[in-house]
Amino acid sequence: MDRRSVIKHAGVAGILAAAAAPAVHAQASIRWRLTSSFPKSLDTIHGAAEVFAKTVNAMSGGKFQVTVHAPGELVPAFGVVDAVQQGTVEAGHTAPYYYFGKDDTFAIGTAIPFGMNSRQLTAWFYDGNGMKLMREFYDQYNIVNFPGGNTGAQMGGWYRKEIKGPADIKGLKMRIGGFAGKVLTRMGAVPQNIPGGEIYQALEKGTIDATEWVGPYDDEKLGFYKVAKNYYYPGWWEGGAQLDFYINKKAYNELSADYKAMVEAAASQAHVTMQAMYDARNPAALKRLVANGTKVLALPKNVMDEAFKQSMELYDELSASNPNWKKVYSDYRNFQRDANLWFRFTEARFDSYMQSAKL
Ligand code: CA
Repeated sequence: MDRRSVIKHAGVAGILAAAAAPAVHAQASIRWRLTSSFPKSLDTIHGAAEVFAKTVNAMSGGKFQVTVHAPGELVPAFGVVDAVQQGTVEAGHTAPYYYFGKDDTFAIGTAIPFGMNSRQLTAWFYDGNGMKLMREFYDQYNIVNFPGGNTGAQMGGWYRKEIKGPADIKGLKMRIGGFAGKVLTRMGAVPQNIPGGEIYQALEKGTIDATEWVGPYDDEKLGFYKVAKNYYYPGWWEGGAQLDFYINKKAYNELSADYKAMVEAAASQAHVTMQAMYDARNPAALKRLVANGTKVLALPKNVMDEAFKQSMELYDELSASNPNWKKVYSDYRNFQRDANLWFRFTEARFDSYMQSAKL
């Protein structure tokens, strides 16, 4: 056999071996563009999209490339649903509650006032009916959703003046993420939906009296402590705020089964990583904020009680007027009721003991 035919035979054997082996990458190289609602400076939440992209790229051996784009590069911060729905981009990473103007049911995908905490929401999505119900809802927007990170319970935000009771909420111009503004409106406040990258200037200029964002680590980066000293807790509207990856339905359905599995696994990786970053980084940031003169204060119970009452009334109204809301919310609330029944025993008791113990 001459050299030429050895090469030729090896080539045939190689092709036969490849045909017999399971298809690792059934598709040709593809490229997706993912638009984020969050500025690059926020390594926690913008970072979750980077984790997703890096994981897909690595799992596919570089054949499935996802590029992440900051707000404004391709799509405005709050334009993610429209862009994914229309196929302008294949994917997005956003907080569903930004889109409550389209349908209040979007809010349940992130957080609703006095809703579930991070652990409970993840349980509802991964092992309860959450994923199934939200997938049904998103289908009308050509979106396939995957949980894409959680912040954990958020802070109640930065206020130029102290909040002593419900009267101090009246007339308050406050930046707040999405849907919770409906409850604040009922309490007499004037909520504003402003993207993360634009809040500082509004607070500095006094266009707003207060803002909330997430928690110590992100809030410190956005610099709010320089222009408002009173930092309240808890963010009763975000007991655990989840972000989502939105995938255009047609783009998703065109993927092979192995690429679909990579998308699912990469989203789970991003989901876990984001919560871990917040839990690991918030403690040191809180200490730095206090060292810089921030006053950390509990929201008065009568403010919480008024917010709770207004929230429950709002939910009753939405359940009566919006069938989408009613379907998803009733399952969500039943799940939360049982989850709280369980969490109040071991989780809450253990946490409260340990948090008062000296380590
Ligand atoms: Ca928030």
